[in-house]
Amino acid sequence: MQSGQSQSEWDGVINGTLILPAGLIRGGLVLWESGKLSYVGPERRVRRGLRLLDAGGGYIGPGFVDLHVHGGAGADFMDGTVEAVQRSCAAHLRHGTTTIFPTTTTAGSEQLQEMISACRGAIEQQQRDWGAATIAGVHLYGPYFAADKSGCHDHESCRIPEAIEFEQYFQSGLVRIATCAAELPGAVDFYRAARRRRCLVTCGHSNASWSEMREAFRAGMRHVDHFWCAMSSVPSIRQRLGTPMQGSMAEFVLLEPEMSTEVIADGCHLAAELLEFAVRMKGPERLCLVTDCNRALDMPAGDYMFGNQQTGTPFTSDGRVGRAANGGLASAIVGMDHMVRQMHADTSADLPAVFRMASLTPAERVGLQRKIGSLEAGKRADVLLLNRRLKVGGVVVGGRLLHQAD
Ligand SMILES: [Zn+2]
Ligand SMILES: [Zn+2]
Repeated sequence: MQSGQSQSEWDGVINGTLILPAGLIRGGLVLWESGKLSYVGPERRVRRGLRLLDAGGGYIGPGFVDLHVHGGAGADFMDGTVEAVQRSCAAHLRHGTTTIFPTTTTAGSEQLQEMISACRGAIEQQQRDWGAATIAGVHLYGPYFAADKSGCHDHESCRIPEAIEFEQYFQSGLVRIATCAAELPGAVDFYRAARRRRCLVTCGHSNASWSEMREAFRAGMRHVDHFWCAMSSVPSIRQRLGTPMQGSMAEFVLLEPEMSTEVIADGCHLAAELLEFAVRMKGPERLCLVTDCNRALDMPAGDYMFGNQQTGTPFTSDGRVGRAANGGLASAIVGMDHMVRQMHADTSADLPAVFRMASLTPAERVGLQRKIGSLEAGKRADVLLLNRRLKVGGVVVGGRLLHQAD
C-alpha cells in the first residue's frame, strides 16, 4: 500500500479476488463514495486521480459482523468504561470485525447498566474519531441463564427475567440481541418484549426441552447461542424430565428451518466434524461464526477475569483458549479472522460460504443486511484486504482505512 496519505483519502481497492456471497471474482475492483460502496465487480478503467489501495493479489472481502463478543486487548465490555469498550472494539477491528455487538455477562443490574452506558458513550464517540469496529447495538446475554448451565459466567448472578429489570435495559434503545434460557419462568414475556424491540431473540445457557423451545419460538425466539456449548441435549433432558426421552435445543435448531445458531470455530471448542456437521445441517444462511472472545485476545498467556475486572470469574488463557478453574472452557481468545481460517480449513464450506457466515448471515439475523454484511453497491464501505492465507492486511470502515498490518 502507498504511504503518505491520510487514512480517509482512499477511493477503493484493486488487485484482489472479491469474496461475494454468490462466488469469487478474480481481478476485482471495489470503489466507494461518501462512505458507501459505489462499484463492486471486475477491474475496469477508472477515473484518473482515484486513489486505490492494492490488495497485493490476495482477497478483498466484507468486514466481519460479530454478534457475540466479550472483549479483547485486556478489556472486557463489562468493565463498564468507554475506554474498555474502545479498547475491545479496536482489538477486534485488527482482526477484521467492522460491526460489533458488545455482549454482557451475568452480573448485577447496576453493572449491566454501566456497561450499556459505556456503550452509549462509545457510540457518541463513533460519530467523531473512533478507529475501531462500529458498535451496532448491545447483546444482552447474561443474566437470564439457567444456573445449571452458567458455564464460565458467575452463576450466583443468574436470575429469572422480570420486566421491572429488563425493561430498563430495553429502554436504553441499544439492545439489539437478547438472550434468555427458555425454561425460566418469565422467559416468554422476555422474548415478547425483546421481539417488540426488534431484537434478534435467542436462547442460550439453557437446559430447555423441545416443548419449551416450541413455546419460545412462538414468542419470537429465533437463534441459539454457541451450538453445543452450555445447551441441552436429549440425555440432559432425560435427566431433567425422565422418559419418554424428549427433544432438546439441538433437535429444535436442526429441525426448524427458521432457527439460526452460531459456532465458536477457534479449533478448541469444537472438533472439525462438529463444524462440518453444523454447516451441513443448518447451511451458511442459518449458521453464524462468532468469536465469543474474552479480554485475553492479543494478550500473553496467563490469568484473567471473565466479565468485570473486579467481580467477574477468574480464568486462565493457555494462549489458545480460555480455561475455567475446573478445566472447562471459558470462551475464546482469538478474533474473527482466526474463526474464518479455521472454518475454511476444517469444513467443506467454500470461501464465499465461510465469509457469509462471518458477515452477511449475522447481518441478516439482526436485520442490518441492507446496510452491511457483503460487498454490494449501496452498502457501507466496510472492506477487508486479506493475503492469500486470509491474514488481514487492511481494514476499511465506512470508506476509511482504519487499520493496516505492518
Ligand atoms: Zn456463553
Ligand atoms: Zn459468551
